Amino acid sequence: MSRWFGRAAAFIGLIAASLLIVAGLSSCVSVSPYFDADKPHRARDGFRNNYDNSDKQSFWRWQLERWQSGAPFPPKAPTPSAIPETDFLRTNLTEPTMTWIGHATVLLQVASYNILTDPHFSERASPVSFAGPKRMTQPGIAIDQLPHIDVVLISHNHYDHLDISTVQRLAAQSGGPPMFIVPLGLETWFKSAGIGNVVELDWWDRVRLGSLDFHFVPTQHWSQRTLWDRNKSLWGGFFVKHHSMSFVYTGDTGYSKDFSDIRARLGAPDIAAIPIGAYEPRWFMEKQHVNPADAVQVHKDLGAKYSLGVHWGTFELTDESLDEPPIALAEARVKAGVPAERFFITRIGEIRRLAPMLRADMKAAASATPQPISDAPRRTGR
Ligand SMILES: [Zn+2]
Repeated sequence: MSRWFGRAAAFIGLIAASLLIVAGLSSCVSVSPYFDADKPHRARDGFRNNYDNSDKQSFWRWQLERWQSGAPFPPKAPTPSAIPETDFLRTNLTEPTMTWIGHATVLLQVASYNILTDPHFSERASPVSFAGPKRMTQPGIAIDQLPHIDVVLISHNHYDHLDISTVQRLAAQSGGPPMFIVPLGLETWFKSAGIGNVVELDWWDRVRLGSLDFHFVPTQHWSQRTLWDRNKSLWGGFFVKHHSMSFVYTGDTGYSKDFSDIRARLGAPDIAAIPIGAYEPRWFMEKQHVNPADAVQVHKDLGAKYSLGVHWGTFELTDESLDEPPIALAEARVKAGVPAERFFITRIGEIRRLAPMLRADMKAAASATPQPISDAPRRTGR
């Protein structure tokens, strides 16, 4: 009996020791490799926001409400789109331009560089091809009609901002892959997707390419692609600086003091691309997605001369109708005293030439002296 008891005790001891080892290992594994005790946004369990880290609201409560209300209701009109001047975009080496391609994808041309924000050209914003939010408006420019892309800016890893098929196609473009500038923690994902030309940035880091500086800046959001990787990679926006102009792309964000911080640290941009869609219901979305009224406040906090409303009219992600954001933006602008031309929307595929806008501002400023808007062409023959 005592021998049996001894064996049983030894067995239980072995199990307990194993459990302790496993628990110890898993607690080691769960410490983020980016943990930095001196940087509050790089916490032990993953990345955190600067100003709001409240608990996630119930996704299932939202889905139930959505099912009960029947939201979102279909738009009264399709998202306006323009026939793109692809020949101009493919040969333009001198004129700074901005083209909304759909959702959060913007083509910025400056100093003969072609820069894409969060490119998405697929049919669904989803981990699978047969389900998930379906594209309601085709991209303003087909992916094979784009000019050669030099830089791709990825704000975070949600499926409507980071699309594997799109980034793989861009990496395989003729003339060589673009440089992918991504948040901390995403380089491994790109490598596993077969993409090596990646620069990973923390908040306030900067990378220089020719005459352009790309700063990664904080915003209020989160990251997740699987059940196991919530906030394991960072999120943020980009501040692109050239001596002739500056541009901010905020990515997804709730309203926060981050935008005053960005202005205090890097100055006010000439142009900003700010989301105006995917904001209802507010009880669920408020901390992670601005609504048009918040977006106008972001425009003011940044001190942007001009802002373009993006992140609407393409994928039905939330409860407001696809065509509601521009209407709500117009109301918010009036309330905030922001003129329509200062925070505008464009048709999908419409090219906005930036030099005339910026020149008009320079003229208006009594102390301003005329400056060239773009560099001498960097490339020829494209
Ligand atoms: Zn997101």
